[in-house]
Amino acid sequence: MYDLHVHTTASDGIYTPVEVIHMAEKIGLRGIAITDHDTLDGLITARHLIDSELLSIDVIPGVELNTDYGDDEVHILGYFIEDNDGILTKRLDEIKLERHQRAERIIRRLEQLGICIDLGEVKKQAGGGVIGRPHIARAIRDKGYTASEQEAFDLYIARGRPAYVPRYKFTPEEAIHLIKYVGGISVLAHPGLIGDPSLIGRIIALGIEGLEVFYPEHNQIQINKLIVLARHHNLQITGGSDFHGTGPENRNKLGCCGINDQDMMMFREFCQQK
Ligand code: AMP
Ligand code: ZN
Ligand code: FE
Ligand code: FE
Repeated sequence: MYDLHVHTTASDGIYTPVEVIHMAEKIGLRGIAITDHDTLDGLITARHLIDSELLSIDVIPGVELNTDYGDDEVHILGYFIEDNDGILTKRLDEIKLERHQRAERIIRRLEQLGICIDLGEVKKQAGGGVIGRPHIARAIRDKGYTASEQEAFDLYIARGRPAYVPRYKFTPEEAIHLIKYVGGISVLAHPGLIGDPSLIGRIIALGIEGLEVFYPEHNQIQINKLIVLARHHNLQITGGSDFHGTGPENRNKLGCCGINDQDMMMFREFCQQK
């Protein structure tokens, strides 16, 4: 089994790339793809490990780009990404900087509301990775301003609340093109979670090359429909757990979703032909 959707501390997962790879070995997976949100930082650590240890699993370099399509959030996975210092890395660095500035703006707005947290605390929450609102929510809660992270969202930083600041996001077009440009394969992540199903067809028309068919929140009917859609449009079929190391016990567990060896062979062949 290959779990092709795994997060690490490089984005919002709680285990480091090294820990995740060793966990996957232990449970007997054939391979995993590291697919952190908007960063390739985890791949560098993974690369060091691959070069220094004899691993019993394959580690596929990947990424999950968060994009906006109108009011919907669309996540696009990229596989077989190796972009040391290339255009994708540059764009992601710009986004990281932009997120940093946005965090500062949110903190200033919170200050006006009498909520004083500092950027250092937020950065600590983010562990050196990409800064997001969940890290700010944790900092607000830790200072005792709210009882929970959710309350921090509900009162202050959710969309429509007084300290909300939107952030820059890729469009699906840009994400698909960037992935293609660095020699990767773009795959629509968890299509079953997209609010407006007609969007899937529009994303396919933009040139996406695969669909994440196997996903913990997809039911059998959705899976069957997605397989038919993938075959019809000649798209690759992938799957993964979206493991973060957090959340309710048996959901999004490492290795709970993925593709088998044969499907992986087909996916790999497709990628090599490009
Ligand atoms: P950001 O990318 O910094 O805007 O943060 C987005 C993340 O914040 C999402 O992935 C959710 O985990 C979390 N989030 C966004 N809105 C809410 C909300 N209303 N309540 C709780 N968590 C939220
Ligand atoms: Zn995540
Ligand atoms: Fe996602
Ligand atoms: Fe994910």
